[in-house]
Amino acid sequence: MAKMTKMKKAEVKPFKESLIILRARLRGDVSTLASAALSTSGGSSGSSSVPSHIADLGSDTYEQDNTILLMNSEGETLTQIESALERIEGGTYGFCTECSGKIPKTRLKALPYTPYCVKCASEIESDNY
Ligand SMILES: [Zn+2]
Repeated sequence: MAKMTKMKKAEVKPFKESLIILRARLRGDVSTLASAALSTSGGSSGSSSVPSHIADLGSDTYEQDNTILLMNSEGETLTQIESALERIEGGTYGFCTECSGKIPKTRLKALPYTPYCVKCASEIESDNY
């Protein structure tokens, strides 16, 4: 394993801040999207009434699927943000979780929650497709 030189607190700070902001924003978006996707009207009657617009099946269904898809990918990002914040606390932030190599700061600026260096990320992405 490569020798790890921890990032200084001052170095990590801007990344931590942007992660926290990103997390708050995603949490807000996720809950908004979730309530939109589930279309819980919040009606006082506990009965399972089918919303009338559902009867018009067509583009509505397609849009709903897209919303759920978007919600899932944002949830995934949220998970990555959480583990990035954990790595900040543990002092391993800025290092690839695959090869322990240092992640370039330019990459962290673009993707502060990424757990991988450029090389591992491209290998993992090519595995997925
Ligand atoms: Zn790596």
